[in-house]
Amino acid sequence: MGQSILVTGGSGFLGSQLCEKLLAQDHDVICLDNFFTGRKQNIYHLLDNPRFELVRHDVTMPIYLEVDRIFNLACPASPIHYQYDPVQTTKTSVHGAINMLGLAKRVKARILQASTSEVYGDPSVHPQTEDYWGNVNPIGIRSCYDEGKRCAETLFFDYHRQHGLEIKVIRIFNTYGPNMHPDDGRVVSNFIVQALKGEDITIYGEGEQTRSFCYVDDLLRGMMSLMESPADFTGPVNIGNPNEFTIKELAEQVIALTGSKSKLVYRDLPQDDPKQRKPDISLAKEKLGWAPSIELKEGLIKTIAYFENELKKA
Ligand code: NAD
Ligand code: UDP
Repeated sequence: MGQSILVTGGSGFLGSQLCEKLLAQDHDVICLDNFFTGRKQNIYHLLDNPRFELVRHDVTMPIYLEVDRIFNLACPASPIHYQYDPVQTTKTSVHGAINMLGLAKRVKARILQASTSEVYGDPSVHPQTEDYWGNVNPIGIRSCYDEGKRCAETLFFDYHRQHGLEIKVIRIFNTYGPNMHPDDGRVVSNFIVQALKGEDITIYGEGEQTRSFCYVDDLLRGMMSLMESPADFTGPVNIGNPNEFTIKELAEQVIALTGSKSKLVYRDLPQDDPKQRKPDISLAKEKLGWAPSIELKEGLIKTIAYFENELKKA
């Protein structure tokens, strides 16, 4: 039988695709969003579905709903957006977690937190395993996001220990794909949009820093299987693609796949930008039988096709 499922941040990149996949499984879906970085156009095609409901709401405010499952995704994820109003970013992670955990406690719902590889900060352990506590600057420009997400994890585990809540914590590593905003500001969307427009490709620093990029379908398969995993498995669990690339290599792949004449230009590296990032996914393999199957080239081709279409509309 279908469940009643709340997706906070449901009009964003990951949230909108998650709503679509949950509806395809015949669940009732409530999409909650304040449209800070999310777009109505990501969910237009779902509005006619009688199982889909849209609620304009800010997670920093309490809300009363009756649901079986909560996916808590509300939070800007791109550094330029989460640094735009850092106080609101911390409130979204911390007050948002408190409100959603309170809701889960009242209605006895199972709740999943979209945490992040940023809890590892600029990591000194490589690849990152879940038992690594991280290297996070508590007072830098990324701290509103990193510490907000760390505090949300703390709240999840305290509600679990203190109130017996069924929790799931997923640590998401850089994920990309259709439904990203063309002005999102994260590296994959920036490079593709710049390449398609023939603009300079902006590499921050020397481009030697690394990231490991996961395609959205792989990520959501992991997230949905975590939600339905046995109650005694709480995570935190890394979900991401362990294939690691330098940012310069990413730029070169995007140029090759778009056939663009764009040039690489180098800009200042933002403060506290992590030098390396790669998930150890042994735990996800063991507990969820999960591994990614879409490699960077294949994922980039799909994402480029999406942005080509978006730019035609603009
Ligand atoms: P996104 O910015 O596209 O989506 C975030 C959504 O949350 C948007 O629709 C936004 O409007 C909404 N939102 C923000 N603040 C809100 C508030 N106070 N109340 C209600 N809604 C609010 O980002 P995304 O990539 O889809 O990320 C979704 C979640 O996954 C975030 O929690 C993010 O931290 C986490 N995450 C994503 C990645 C990634 O690579 N995509 C990596 C790590 C973690
Ligand atoms: N980056 C870049 N050019 C851009 C956007 C980002 O070189 O136009 C770099 C950024 O400095 C970081 C990496 O790409 O080293 C990933 O950045 P993103 O904002 O996508 O996510 P992060 O993993 O840093 O949160």
